[in-house]
Amino acid sequence: MSDHDLPPLMRQYREIKRAYRDAILFFRVGDFYEMFYEDAQEASRLLSIALTSRDKASPDPIPLCGVPYHAATGYIAKLLKAGRTVALCEQVEDPKQAKGLVRREVVRLYTPGTLIDTELLPATESNFLAAVAPASRQPRPPSSRDVRAPAFGLAAFDASTGEFWVAELDGDRADGALRDELARLEPRELLYPGDLPLPMQTLLTEQKGIRFCAKERSWFDLQTARQSLQDLFGVASLDGFGCQGLSLGLEAAGAVIRYVRETQPSGGLGHVRRLLVRRSGGEMHLDGATIRNLELVRPLFESASQRQDTTLLAVLDRTVTTMGSRLLREWILRPLLQSPPILARLDAVEELVREFPSRVSVRASLKSVQDIARLSGRISLGAATPRDLLALKQSAEALPDIGTKLSGFRSSLLQELSRGWDNLTDVRDLIERTILPEAPHSIRDGGIIKDGYHEPLDELRRTCKDGKGWILGLEAKERERTGIESLKVRFNQVFGYYIEVTKANLGRVPADYIRKQTLVNAERFVTPELKELEDRVTGADLKLKALEQELFEQVRQTLALEAQRLQAMGAALAQLDVLTALAETAALNQYVRPEVDEGAVVQISEGRHPVVERLDLPGGFIANDTFLDLEGNRLLIITGPNMAGKSTYLRQVALIVLMAQIGSFVPAKSARIGLVDRIFTRVGASDNLAGGQSTFMVEMTETAQILNCATARSLILLDEIGRGTSTYDGLSIAWAVAEHIQDRSRLGARALFATHYHEMTELARLRDGIKNYTVLVRERDEEVLFLRKIVEGAADRSYGIHVARLAGLPQPVLSRASEVLAQLEQSGNNTQVPPEPITHHPSPIPPLDPSLPPPHPIVEEVRQMDLFSMTPLEALNRLADLQRRLGEGPGK
Ligand code: ATP
Repeated sequence: MSDHDLPPLMRQYREIKRAYRDAILFFRVGDFYEMFYEDAQEASRLLSIALTSRDKASPDPIPLCGVPYHAATGYIAKLLKAGRTVALCEQVEDPKQAKGLVRREVVRLYTPGTLIDTELLPATESNFLAAVAPASRQPRPPSSRDVRAPAFGLAAFDASTGEFWVAELDGDRADGALRDELARLEPRELLYPGDLPLPMQTLLTEQKGIRFCAKERSWFDLQTARQSLQDLFGVASLDGFGCQGLSLGLEAAGAVIRYVRETQPSGGLGHVRRLLVRRSGGEMHLDGATIRNLELVRPLFESASQRQDTTLLAVLDRTVTTMGSRLLREWILRPLLQSPPILARLDAVEELVREFPSRVSVRASLKSVQDIARLSGRISLGAATPRDLLALKQSAEALPDIGTKLSGFRSSLLQELSRGWDNLTDVRDLIERTILPEAPHSIRDGGIIKDGYHEPLDELRRTCKDGKGWILGLEAKERERTGIESLKVRFNQVFGYYIEVTKANLGRVPADYIRKQTLVNAERFVTPELKELEDRVTGADLKLKALEQELFEQVRQTLALEAQRLQAMGAALAQLDVLTALAETAALNQYVRPEVDEGAVVQISEGRHPVVERLDLPGGFIANDTFLDLEGNRLLIITGPNMAGKSTYLRQVALIVLMAQIGSFVPAKSARIGLVDRIFTRVGASDNLAGGQSTFMVEMTETAQILNCATARSLILLDEIGRGTSTYDGLSIAWAVAEHIQDRSRLGARALFATHYHEMTELARLRDGIKNYTVLVRERDEEVLFLRKIVEGAADRSYGIHVARLAGLPQPVLSRASEVLAQLEQSGNNTQVPPEPITHHPSPIPPLDPSLPPPHPIVEEVRQMDLFSMTPLEALNRLADLQRRLGEGPGK
């Protein structure tokens, strides 16, 4: 059907939809948002709502579905989560006043990266829109690469707070740096030039949970970008923001600005006050694998929601504001590299640990502070509601008290916060004078502005009130005039005010009553007097609401002028919250202040794993010491039985170093941390089948990245290398990697290397800088007792078969494994010696008892496995693989 043949409403729909082809159009019709055609089909599926059709009788009915306007947010959230965008089209004039078809316009485009609404945002995480601008269309050949020329520009923008920054990633390792930065940033939406070569597109789009938007190259034009930024900040040069020498970063920023302008018709950048330039060198670089492996902010097994949150963030996060929670997350993902700012944080935490009563009282006051950063964003963007302003007032009310407490602290960072403190008294006073404490969310329905603020408003309010009184007075008057006791004056949306008379009394209705509606038991009338009163009241009511809205807008605009102060206080409160929370955690978890210096020694006495120590372990957590330097203790080779605690130990060292570098106290008796520039981890096995990589390929790629990117100041954790291939291949690779790390002429970094290749312990004898450590166990009869204590020395066995027993492997398999092991040990691992025939034949494996809970999947795998047909070495490798997977937990 052509547009011409459609009814006017559908013509209007089609016209608006044309400009928002990619979005699902929520088209306001009365109390509903309706969706039509393909949008209706898709939305009904994604939202699980009924799909019907408009004009069912027509030969060509239009698919339709709808949601009530007041419940729209929940549906929008679902569509965003499904990776869609939503255009919200409102009726922009009062249907009662409209002559003909009501005017409609798209007032908001919801995209995942540009959200500002509390209900749609994760409270404790930032929500970034990012853009990537690569250096040129074609990657340069490796030989011509200038290591220092930037390869990518990256811009990130959080619409909810106005945070906006750019960075340039340079060098020939920029691909990895970009991948790592995106892993840390977790943007919800990413813009990039659509003509990128395929490998680069793959690099970007391999990240999960991001909505990717390919844009034309012109979006990334430097001149346009510079101009848009200058216009945005009202400056003639961007040098004031430290942008000298930047180009790719600005190009990316330009794309962000254009996207926000195009998607937010009513603006969307009004709260951006500055552009931050992130230069490399200020923060520790963490790659995606390390962030994941150390479980810094997300647990490895996220799907198992009933499990305890095993992240470092969860242990440290005792913040009481959402701003604090977001900042702590950022601190964890961006540890510092220089000792002065780390020491400043540590001084503050120490003072807050010591001053217990002040800490408790600061935390108590912080609890009444709301998310000023996001409130300020919504105020500047004209999206704040009356309730938002009340939340801001409540926050401002807490400030003088917090400020006074803060002024009593001596440490430099807290004093600095105190010096910049702003009680926002004028902000609080303005809201106090203007906004009613019980004001609603909506700005349309009145009930917002206080009496006494604006005389014409008070006057209108009196008229409305009096008018309603007159109308109610009319009821008594008409009852008396007609003698009908049951006569009522009532109001509804369709007829406005009316007089209702029951059927039994109709005979007494006066001649000037005009019939309006007939019900089963009653008739409804109006009178000329009632009509006139109503017009006066309705007119006044409409004017009242419009005036309230206007006054509210004025207050909002006045507050928007103070956005910079609000943002500064949001940042100060977030910092204070984080420092206080770190102190609270330190006190409760018995952490100590680490010594931090630029030296090379990492010395930890009685260190603990911050997360594992909080689990309910049968024998409690066993603390362990660590000593690393750049001399004789560069590389620690850690051998020991399966399940002994090697991986836990490795991670604990890395976490303690990282905690110290964010300015936190650490779980140890004492700790001295010679700063590290990067932490690398190579842990466990994971397939990247979607990315076309096998387990072993992933392992080798990660190892290659470490060896290529680490410096002598890095800390490297290797938890098994070479396990995904044959024993001799694997051992050779592990050996060579260890040598490379240890060798000062090549890398010479500090590293911990956990391995089951006992042969590796030979290295300590052959090379300097390498020390052997092992985890103690005690054998008693058939049992092995894990002591979890790390001591100097090497393990001589793995006790893998013992762990297999613990895991429930069938007895015949265990017996055969012990036999094979004994043979192998005798023959010195000589694969040429054929295994002796099986000395006893296993009894058939009994079926599983169906009343028992299902066994571990690995047990089932073993039941199916024909161990007896394998060579001893194959059998052992299979068992070793099972043990490793058991140690790593489910999901692998
Ligand atoms: P595998 O070689 O099989 O990978 P592993 O030696 O790396 O094993 P971990 O995974 O570190 O062993 O530890 C196994 C379990 O032992 C942990 O899940 C934890 O419950 C417990 N554990 C580890 N370290 C300690 C400790 N220091 N104190 C108490 N319990 C610990």
